[in-house]
Amino acid sequence: MAVVGIPGSLLYYRFFPLWEAFFGGLGVNIKTSKPSSNITLLNGANYAHSDSCLPIKLGFGHVAELMGDADYIFLPRFFRLEEKSFVCPKMIGFTDMIKSVLCSADSGQGVNCQANPACTGVSKKKIAGVKNTEFIEPLFDIHNYSNQKVFKKIGSFFSWNPFKIRRAYFDSVRHYNNVCNERENIFLKKLNLNRGLKIGVIGHPYNIYDEFISMGILKELSKLDVLPVTFEDAPGIGFECDFSKFPSNLFWSFGREIYKTAQYFMNGADFKVDGIIYVAPFGCGLDSIMTTIVQGAAKDAGVPFLSLVVDEHTAKAGIVTRLEAFIDMIAYKK
Ligand code: SF4
Repeated sequence: MAVVGIPGSLLYYRFFPLWEAFFGGLGVNIKTSKPSSNITLLNGANYAHSDSCLPIKLGFGHVAELMGDADYIFLPRFFRLEEKSFVCPKMIGFTDMIKSVLCSADSGQGVNCQANPACTGVSKKKIAGVKNTEFIEPLFDIHNYSNQKVFKKIGSFFSWNPFKIRRAYFDSVRHYNNVCNERENIFLKKLNLNRGLKIGVIGHPYNIYDEFISMGILKELSKLDVLPVTFEDAPGIGFECDFSKFPSNLFWSFGREIYKTAQYFMNGADFKVDGIIYVAPFGCGLDSIMTTIVQGAAKDAGVPFLSLVVDEHTAKAGIVTRLEAFIDMIAYKK
């Protein structure tokens, strides 16, 4: 049975339940890469451009780990996830960067991982003798193609039967919606029990939920008896937001999501946090702008704000100290 490798990076942290259910519905086995670690980073940094942000470097490491271990690697091209807005250029180009760098490793262009003992040293050339890994690289561009159409194309790798693919697609969407609703319900139960501080954690999902990038910030906040809340936890109510004051209505999908989540956390009719933490990786152009915008909005709303910029040299002790100081300050003020 075919095995599809799914790198545990970038939008894996948003859509994995959907992908897992879809491939499962087609009877396809999936293999995910291991959670991010120093090894993933060392591996990825050997291939990625040195100016890349931390998530992109890790993304290279995750793909490299799977090459040779799966028949296919699922590497979607994300372009437009909603009308009139785009994802970041590095994410748009990620599939092409992977293909041009990892698959040309044998040509000696820019790849030299032999000097690094932690590097697995995989390349298309080496893999070819073991197993022929193929990329599945659908384009998600909602302006031109419906998601159903894109999944139909993905499914055609594994089934000739359009009805089977259609059923797998709708089942996976239902499963995904259930997972999202369940997360909100779990959060609402925690909220009802919580008598302490509530802290909104905002940023790209892969920066918050990849514990290697965020240094496990959600767990660290819980250890401080704080209830952390993210975009994924928050109930959908009250999420409308006016973007008209921004040029082109703020045309980055995740910029819009981050801003409206912050606004909801600070000014929501049914829910308010005691402070906001913005997790951003060094080298992210979008976050460097959004941090300033959200910080200004937090100041206007009188909500304490902490910006945590992380990179591969960040030490966990430093992050924990800053979290403790931030929480102590809010508790003292209250
Ligand atoms: S949005 Fe930022 S963190 Fe995400 S891929 Fe682009 S540059 Fe990297």
